[in-house]
Amino acid sequence: MQQITIRDALQQSSRDIDDIDARILLQYALDVSHAHLIAHAEQVLDSKQAQSFRLLTTRRARGEPVAYLTGKREFYSLGFTVTPAVLIPRPETELLVDMALALIPPDLPWKILDLGTGSGAIALAIAKHRPLTDISAVDFSANALTVAKTNACELGVKNVRFIEADWFDGFNGEIFNLIVSNPPYIADGDPHLTRGDLRFEPRMALAAEGEALDCIRSIIAAAPTHLVEDGALLLEHGYDQAEACRRLLSEAGFKRVFSRPDLAGIMRVSGGALDIA
Ligand code: GLN
Repeated sequence: MQQITIRDALQQSSRDIDDIDARILLQYALDVSHAHLIAHAEQVLDSKQAQSFRLLTTRRARGEPVAYLTGKREFYSLGFTVTPAVLIPRPETELLVDMALALIPPDLPWKILDLGTGSGAIALAIAKHRPLTDISAVDFSANALTVAKTNACELGVKNVRFIEADWFDGFNGEIFNLIVSNPPYIADGDPHLTRGDLRFEPRMALAAEGEALDCIRSIIAAAPTHLVEDGALLLEHGYDQAEACRRLLSEAGFKRVFSRPDLAGIMRVSGGALDIA
């Protein structure tokens, strides 16, 4: 069989997939670091490695997201396990974590609710940075919660409990200092759902069943009864939804309503706080 080196493998795959994707997949197939690929470009792949890299390249060329192929994605400088049962954590969602951490006092045992936790990325990133918090992370998908629990275990996080529920169901009478959510906010018929990586992600994590804002609307409407009297709500939303979110927040009684842009300059997170009576 023809022998190929790391250099050859990267060169051949560049016909079908992105160079960065190829490097990540080759690191994964060989179980080596990025530095290793550079330092050992003449290393010959054994037949199993060559075959595994070829298969990964083919799957990527067909559109499967790199994170599902490697089963890993970094978020907030933490390593997360991901499977097709969960949305792949996005860099823009780090803004939601930044904003939550800015609100949560490091020395107080705040109770926090994460709605639609998926891989657990938001809840676990907050938990890591605020170990005194008591976080409830909810998802409707049992398969997503299995992934989230794996992540809690791998990251050594103890202050998050995972609950299978439909948004606030199962939280009768329980109140929180802060509610965070990155809910589905794409319209069901949006053509983006049929393109790129989104095709492979769980539809229920991306799209509301009816209108794009349906989940956001019901979360905002129900949030005040699940918050302490000066509690806050932070939501990620779509590029064109900031104004509608701020209006819904004001209508639900939130004060100091605001939106913040992500690193691409797109209004991405909106929120507000209830007033002390
Ligand atoms: N930001 C994601 C995307 O547009 C969607 C995430 C979500 O629906 N919560 O790809």
